[in-house]
Amino acid sequence: MKILVVGSGGREHALVWKLRQSSQVTHIWCAPGNAGTAIDAENVAIAADDVSRLARFARENSVDLTVVGPEAPLVAGIVDEFRRQGLAIFGPTAAAARLEGSKVFTKKLLRRASIPTADFAVFSRADEALQYIDGGDEQPLVVKADGLASGKGVFVCANRAEARAAVRSVLQERAFGEAGSQIVIEECLVGEEASVLAIVDGDTIVPLDVAQDHKRAHDGDRGPNTGGMGAYCPAPVVTSAIMDDIVRRILIPTVHTLKVDGTPFSGVLYAGLMLTSSGPKVLEYNVRFGDPEAQPVLMRLQTDLAQLLLLAATGRLSELEGLDWDPRPAVCVVMASEGYPGDYAKGHVISGLESAAQLVDVKVFHAGTALKGSDVVNSGGRVLGVTAIGSDIADAKRRAYEAADRISWQGGWCRRDISDKAAGINVS
Ligand code: ATP
Repeated sequence: MKILVVGSGGREHALVWKLRQSSQVTHIWCAPGNAGTAIDAENVAIAADDVSRLARFARENSVDLTVVGPEAPLVAGIVDEFRRQGLAIFGPTAAAARLEGSKVFTKKLLRRASIPTADFAVFSRADEALQYIDGGDEQPLVVKADGLASGKGVFVCANRAEARAAVRSVLQERAFGEAGSQIVIEECLVGEEASVLAIVDGDTIVPLDVAQDHKRAHDGDRGPNTGGMGAYCPAPVVTSAIMDDIVRRILIPTVHTLKVDGTPFSGVLYAGLMLTSSGPKVLEYNVRFGDPEAQPVLMRLQTDLAQLLLLAATGRLSELEGLDWDPRPAVCVVMASEGYPGDYAKGHVISGLESAAQLVDVKVFHAGTALKGSDVVNSGGRVLGVTAIGSDIADAKRRAYEAADRISWQGGWCRRDISDKAAGINVS
């Protein structure tokens, strides 16, 4: 089987690495890839959102399956175009990808299907939104831009004044352009957050073991939000009873509703949830693997990933006889450039990669890396996902940091407390 992976982050390197372990896979390309995928696959210089060139490449190279990492090409319709050309591709159509591309679409679907989520109202006019805020009780509210805003379009507001400022920024000042032509204002939920991911083929749902990520930049969940500074899998916060509830009351009705609507979902369904005192509620949907969560998840997955994704892409997931997992937990520590998530300097030579690679049960996934001659240099905010498996979560953490500590570049840094929540150390 010849496979094309689309994207260039740690998630895509993890996909490439896992796909390569399949005995059925004969060749893997990654477009555009990074310095890590250049080792585990063959990089192709085509941007992840250049749908027509990607389709031409897949046709000309007889690619058997294309796997899409990031959300932007999915929302833009890469799956529709590939299918139109008779090419097998893993991911949702543009219509189904609205689950991530439009919060208004998702909230309306959730309400229609009686799926638990925060109460909400939708606005496109600022005066009406401000009136709504002033007319309600003084209470925390969450204001969300409708479209894709790289995780920055959500404002958790402690009071009316903050909510009003968020409305003005999104609807009047158009801080997110067209992505903010509508907003959702919703009730602020309280509880522990969890993400549940499932592989779906339109009908059949195969949940993956749960991973927990760490969004804030600094130890103790302080500092600004980031794309994710680390993750661990499995996450004890979702017990099997909670998982059953999530599948029954959230995943099944979501997949069923999309099917009945004539826009069946296939790909990765990623539910961002709040575990409230009245049960799990949906905060958001994503339509692809999380990054960095994909890294510890794929490190533990023992099922043939190429086979799994091909079954999903061709509507045959019911043929799968469950998933096999390494029972040991995995921890991924993200190493970032100095200044991230703000501006950062690029082009510093990274040392210690070979030494880290010698450690057993450790894999260093590349994200923002590039090759400069024979050197690997940093080229993005999040640079590496240092991932380790251990006998328990504390052992996995120890091994991940042992590897991370062998790697350095000017200004490179990481959080030191990834997975402590799961291990019961310093629970804040
Ligand atoms: P990302 O894609 O980066 O995860 P997003 O922009 O799609 O984020 P959401 O996941 O909807 O946005 O929200 C981001 C964060 O805001 C959540 O992880 C959660 O911490 C907080 N949040 C969102 N909605 C609510 C809510 N109703 N109550 C409390 N907190 C919320």
